[in-house]
Amino acid sequence: MNILHCDLDAFFASVEQRYHPEWKGKPVIVGGQPGSRGVVSTCSYEARAYGVRSAMPINQAYRLCPQGIYLLPDLPKYQEVSQQVFTILQRYSPIIETISIDEAFLDVSASHLLFGSSAQIASMIKEDVARELGLSISVGIAANKFLAKLATNLSKPDGLLEMGEEQIRDILPRLPVTEIWGIGSKTALRLKRVGIITIADLLASPRSQLEGILGSNTDFYIRLCKGQDTRPVEVESKRQSLGNEITFPQDLADQEEIQQVLLELCCRIGYRIRQSSLMAHTITIKMRTPDFKTLTRSKTLPQGVDADLAIYDIALDLYRNSDIIGSSLRLLGVSAGKLIDRNEEPGTLFYDKNQTLDGIMDDMKKKFGRETIKRGSLLKSKHTNKGNKSETIV
Ligand SMILES: [Mg+2]
Repeated sequence: MNILHCDLDAFFASVEQRYHPEWKGKPVIVGGQPGSRGVVSTCSYEARAYGVRSAMPINQAYRLCPQGIYLLPDLPKYQEVSQQVFTILQRYSPIIETISIDEAFLDVSASHLLFGSSAQIASMIKEDVARELGLSISVGIAANKFLAKLATNLSKPDGLLEMGEEQIRDILPRLPVTEIWGIGSKTALRLKRVGIITIADLLASPRSQLEGILGSNTDFYIRLCKGQDTRPVEVESKRQSLGNEITFPQDLADQEEIQQVLLELCCRIGYRIRQSSLMAHTITIKMRTPDFKTLTRSKTLPQGVDADLAIYDIALDLYRNSDIIGSSLRLLGVSAGKLIDRNEEPGTLFYDKNQTLDGIMDDMKKKFGRETIKRGSLLKSKHTNKGNKSETIV
């Protein structure tokens, strides 16, 4: 078992507690001040005891935990500490795949002679992070990425769990399908409607029923449910990202119009990704308010996307969860990162039907020009039509 998944516990809140020892043992909530429209980004385990959770509106958190310490995120500080954590990880293997600011996979196949077993390496990482940075990190060990991440989630906080044959046999079937990396709340709800709640339920269901919900990813998810995952730990992709952004002639306040622009940007990104035969594993949105505050939000996915509406779903989710929703925008951008070759992608995610529609639309755009065909919901958008001079393509 050579794959380690490392994930810092309540990262932003823990960093704050490290810089402010007087906050240790207290409920720390990073995201925004009470009364703001923000959502909880991270909260300490002390705050979780009150029922506070990530992505919860700040005001709801405040009702549950009025005595909490409420903070705005200090991303530069978290990025600096994240760098220090990754420097520790690099001691134990050069094969590191960054998932986010506080999460990574390590392949330690070639590290045993120097450092011992995977469990010993995991212990050393935990000790180094605790001693040098005063933070706690959970580490899951398994034969593949899916199980390693699962092991981390099951062992948090300050966990160390090895997911071996015994655990795969005894624990895996009883877990809810929401533990499967890539199955979001929407898909989980659709599965629940047909009585699929646990991994065992999914494996016992007829294939035709699963295909109706999981589409072309059915096989991929069935394999995950059996504990099988062949995706390698991938060191940072060499390819850059690609993106489009629009600066509006006048600040845009209307939510519906903002969402239309977002959809148009996602369609343009989707078109470029497909024309380059790529799949994107990270979607980022960029927003700038009239007072020039710029905010970016990203999501990294276990499997790549290239369909317009799959990209839009992610972008819209990021927009809706940003603490900027409701305010006017002077700029909006979408970019796709962690790009990999389409034929290196093990099965594509989400929207089969739309991929066909995307294909037809792409063919028409190639033959007759980019503005020939648009999704119906974009026709009335005045901000994205031809002749917009303030669009930047990167
Ligand atoms: Mg974390």
